[in-house]
Parts: sequence; C-alpha cells; structure tokens
Amino acid sequence: MTKYIFITGGVVSSVGKGITVASIGTILKSRQITVSVQKLDPYLNVDPGTMSPYQHGEVFVTQDGAETDLDLGNYERFIDVNLTADSNVTSGQIYSAVIAKERRGDFLGGTIQVVPHVTTEIKERFKKLAQKSQAEVVIIEVGGTVGDIEGQPFLEAIRQMRNDVGRDNVLYVHVTLLPYLTSTQELKTKPTQHSVNELRRIGIQPDIIICRSDYPISEGIRDKISLFCDVDRQAVIPLPTVSTIYEVPLVLEEEGLGQLVVDKLSLKAQPTDLSQWRELVTCLKAPGEPVNIALVGKYVELKDAYFSVREALYHAALYHNRDINLTWVASEAVERDGSDALLRSAQGIIVPGGFGVRGIEGMIKAASYARNNEIPYLGLCLGMHVMVIEFARYALGSAEPNSTEFDASTPYPVIDLLPEQKNIENKGGTMRLGNYPCQLVQGSHAASAFGQSLVYERHRHRFEFNNEFRSRLGEAGMVYSGLSPDGKLVEVCELANHQWMVSCQFHPEFGSRPGRPHPLFRDFIGIAKDILREGAQPPLLSFK
Ligand code: GLN
Repeated sequence: MTKYIFITGGVVSSVGKGITVASIGTILKSRQITVSVQKLDPYLNVDPGTMSPYQHGEVFVTQDGAETDLDLGNYERFIDVNLTADSNVTSGQIYSAVIAKERRGDFLGGTIQVVPHVTTEIKERFKKLAQKSQAEVVIIEVGGTVGDIEGQPFLEAIRQMRNDVGRDNVLYVHVTLLPYLTSTQELKTKPTQHSVNELRRIGIQPDIIICRSDYPISEGIRDKISLFCDVDRQAVIPLPTVSTIYEVPLVLEEEGLGQLVVDKLSLKAQPTDLSQWRELVTCLKAPGEPVNIALVGKYVELKDAYFSVREALYHAALYHNRDINLTWVASEAVERDGSDALLRSAQGIIVPGGFGVRGIEGMIKAASYARNNEIPYLGLCLGMHVMVIEFARYALGSAEPNSTEFDASTPYPVIDLLPEQKNIENKGGTMRLGNYPCQLVQGSHAASAFGQSLVYERHRHRFEFNNEFRSRLGEAGMVYSGLSPDGKLVEVCELANHQWMVSCQFHPEFGSRPGRPHPLFRDFIGIAKDILREGAQPPLLSFK
C-alpha cells in the first residue's frame, strides 16, 4: 500500500518548499525506498505553459511533453527520476475535468460542489500517480501558502486522505519561516503558530514542522514550537539557509528527518547511503577556478526563468572541477551598449529559450560576437534560431534573414513555423512538446559530446529550421549535426569554421543531473574553461 506525505507551506512563499520536498525524496531514496512526487498548483491555468516567465519562472517540460512547474525540475534532479504529466496538478485541470464530467452527464441529478466533487477529483490524481508509479511513498506538495483562497480545496482533499487511506499511511509536513527581528535580535515563532492554527482549523494537525530561517535556530525556539504547535520535539526540524541547495538533504538527514519519516510511516528501509550526495556537496563547496559564462536572454531579471539552465551549467562545471561565474546579460542591453562592452570577459556565451521579438537583435549580436571571436556558444531552442538567423545574415550578405516569429514578411524566413503548427489556433499545450528522437551525424561536436548516434531530448517550440535554406547555409559552413530520424527536421546545428558553436532545437538543460551533466553542457564548459579573454592571465603552473 502506498503511503503519502503531504507538504504544506506556512507564513510566506518562496522559502524553499520545493527543495525541501525534493530533499525528502532524496533521503528516502537513499534508504532504497521508491518515491514519486506530485506538485499541486492552486492557480486556474490548466498548466503554466501560457504564463510569462515573469509570473511563473521557468516552465519545466517532462519527457512525455507536459509543461509543468519548475519544482518538477528540482524533483527530477534530486531524486533522479523522470516524471510525467501526472506529477503536476493544477486547479485549472481539476475544474476542467469536473465540468467536462458534468456536461457529459456523469452526475445527472446532482448539484456539483467543491466538496465532494472537486476534492474527489483531486484525490483521484493522488491515487492515479500512486498506482501508475507503484512507488512506496508518494510525496505531494501543495503549492502556495496555507490560507490562500485557491488552495482550500487541495487542503480539504489532503485532509480527507487521512480517513480514505488510514491514519498510519499519511504524514503531514508543514514548512514554515521563522522571521528574524533585527531590533530584538530574535527569531519569531508567532507566524508559524498562526499558520499551524490555520491548518488545524481545517482539520490538519502537522506531524512534522520544518523551520526555515536565515539564522541558527536555538533549542528554546524548537521547544516553543513543539509546545504551541503540539508537535513532537524531535519533529521540529530546523533548516537554516545553506550555501547550495544540494546541501539540504544532508541537513535534513543530520536532523533525523529520514528516520522520523521511516518510523512514522512504518516504512521498510535499508541503511542510508548518501555518500555520493556528500561527495557532490563537498565538491560544490570547494569549487575550482571560475569559468566566465554570459547568459544572454530576455528575462534575466528573474533568475528562476532559467532555473534548469543555471543548474545544468553548475553540473557541467562540477564535472570539470570548476566554478561558474555566471553573468546575466539582458539582450536589450546588448542592443543598446554593444557586445564588446558586455561580453568582453565571457569565455562562453549561452542563449537560452524564449518567445517574442523583444531583445532578439541583442541575442543575434551576441551570436555574431561569439562567431567572430571564436567564443564557445551554446544555443538552446530560441538560441538555435538566433544562431541560424545570425549566420544567414552573414552568409547571405543581407540584414533581412529572420524567423517568421519576429518578422512575418522577411524575404529570408530561415526559421519558420513547423508545418503541423500552421493551422493551430489554441495557444495552450499545442507546441511540439516532450521527447523526440534525434540522429547525430558522425564526426560532429554533437556526436562526440553524446557518444552515441540516437538520442531522445525534450522539446518545446513552434518554429524550426526552414529546409529551403539548408543547402545554401550548408555550403557556407553550417553543419546539420542532429536530424530527426526521417531527416526532415534540423535538431542540432553547428559551425564548421568555429571551435565550438553548437545549438540545439531541444532543451538539454531539463535532462541534466548533478553528477551527470548533460553532454552538450559538459563539452561547452570543457571548451570554454580553456579560453583566455583579453586581459586574463593564464593560471600559474604549479611546480611538481
Ligand atoms: N519561440 C520559439 C518557438 O516557439 C522558441 C521556443 C523556445 O525557445 N522554447 O519555436
């Protein structure tokens, strides 16, 4: 029988609930317990695919093509599993499903209500994941904070689960923040007491409280929370801010959370083995020489918009025993101030995914700068479109080549809508999404990175390389190093006369894992680390 761990958040959002959930997964997995994870998002969008990154941060794409919350990326990286559409449930999905059933006549004669119809639909999603994944433990994170209006049906559903599957099979974990008052120099527990009261009001008594704080949490504070919130003393777990997110499982393990969960749910567990994880954190905390990487994008003010890209860069740097000095460059600033001013010290340039025309010319300038100065370049989806447009402008001797996404009437539409996208009107969930195969061309940078000839990678796009330009750009030095198996779609391209300028139509960042960097990121950093920019000193060789 599957056991469930429900995680709620108190006081404020953005305290790292997702990382905590992912870390609980890590420590259970380290005891050979099988785990699956689900994120409940209370907003009414069916999925985050239509939201601006400013609203939501990155949209994480699963192998089966679901556009999901960025927390799923953390779950995948921490637990090393490939999740599916079943792992992200939104209010939008729940209400659409209930209303569709009502229209079909499934509830003929009845009045459709939040309790029981909506809550039943929610619980079915829990059980579906449990059944499909066959995991011993399903960890379910309720997005938002206790007290949010939209979150109420989800909280009611998790409350009902205690009776549905039995008290011994569910565990409620509350992640809260202890604010620090500078004037009195103390951590305050009152907001936590209030959010626990709010939970109790709807019938949920937390079993474990995880306390986030930027400051050390004293024994007295733990006692106080234990007393006021009626939680075992050892179930009040302090989680102070740490220097790398990958340290969180170690902190929680140290505080005894793993054993506590095993005991409370009576799980069959093997002795914990977090040795690889410990090694990873030791390396992360003692990074080598930094490699200067410039990320040129449109949404750089919000780092979460490129969450997986940043993680993938760190995984790659770790592989080479290096650190990353990541500069976030707004592509509009490149338009305004020029490439040299902003990219002079970059040893590698990365242009990630994105939508819409704003900032495109700045990205094209950055690609041109990379090509002309032999700087390693990695283009991801939109970054590939940018590289193709830039190269076409150079090779065809015209400023007009463009993507029809940005200029519908360009005489040189080097990037154009995928044929199957031409008649699509609905925006939600209609892109080319999820895993597709890609055949690599021997002798290319891409093939040497992957070390195999057929790979599957995750996609999220409407536009693609226009085959009408294949031969003309090919003659000028563009290599089509990855193609769909039928040869029709360009999936990876690179430049013959450049040491490493490689772009892909897919999103390799989603598949990167700590300890197992994605091959393209790994080789990008591998080349970039040895680039010397103007004014840089070669490292002093140590005498043997
Ligand atoms: N806007 C481009 C497209 O739709 C690229 C998308 C992306 O970078 N994910 O094809």
